[in-house]
Amino acid sequence: MRIECQHRDEHSCRFVLSGALPSFANSVRRAMAAEVPKLAIDSVGIYDNTSGLYDEMLAHRLGLVPLRTEEGTYVPIRECTCEGQGCDRCTVSYTLSVEGPGMVWSRDLIPNDPEAAPASGDIPIVKLEKGQKVVIEARAILSTGKEHAKWQPTTVCGYKNYPRVSIDAHCDGCGACVDACPRRVLHLVGRKVEVDGERLEDCSLCRLCDKACLATGIGENSAILVGSEPDRFIFTVESDGAIPAPEILRQSISIIRARGEELSRALSEIAEG
Ligand code: SF4
Ligand code: SF4
Ligand SMILES: [Zn+2]
Repeated sequence: MRIECQHRDEHSCRFVLSGALPSFANSVRRAMAAEVPKLAIDSVGIYDNTSGLYDEMLAHRLGLVPLRTEEGTYVPIRECTCEGQGCDRCTVSYTLSVEGPGMVWSRDLIPNDPEAAPASGDIPIVKLEKGQKVVIEARAILSTGKEHAKWQPTTVCGYKNYPRVSIDAHCDGCGACVDACPRRVLHLVGRKVEVDGERLEDCSLCRLCDKACLATGIGENSAILVGSEPDRFIFTVESDGAIPAPEILRQSISIIRARGEELSRALSEIAEG
């Protein structure tokens, strides 16, 4: 099994996973979206809210603000020694106090731990008219996307099979498939159609080329064959800013490895009786 990284920065990464079963590729996707833990606001104490939003709506919007999460800094509250009370090991507190007129921004959330500040300060929460006010205290805890989407560190997390496109010997070079391809994967070289190696990964497996070829009356079988490699997958991951995208991948692999080891231990214990 191999992971080949094609692009990575803090916000996104794109990589090719080779030599893996579809079930493993799906495990990686699920682990990234639903198992990598991050902080999110879970309870809000509202002291004053004369904005146009109901308290519940305001709390909901606060819950969706991505908060920077350093791995290992906090523990899930249900595993903490404080037994759900909330302490420095499991909980981050925020205060926010804004008076209108003006916008309440995510940067107005002031954390007791600066490392757990909102990932972006430019997220609008609610617009206040003159005389309107929002004064709150909020508490963020660590959890995963399995529990609620607000703990999901990815905004995009998907994969597709690696495309395989080939041209048959009975191709007459009419070029119909080239015109039909929306991703410009194919091009004509003289009277021959070729696959542009640099654009192959852009192929969406839509098969419009296949249909265009059949529509030329070439016969029962198209001269272009579209398929995919069964053990090779192109992943695209985007982070909401709480955790850098390459870090989400690294943590997801650690989670899968730990699960595998746990399963292996359990099976050994059963085998030993
Ligand atoms: S399957 Fe679609 S994207 Fe891929 S080469 Fe054919 S027309 Fe282009
Ligand atoms: S449409 Fe078919 S015959 Fe025409 S160039 Fe494409 S593959 Fe060849
Ligand atoms: Zn605690």
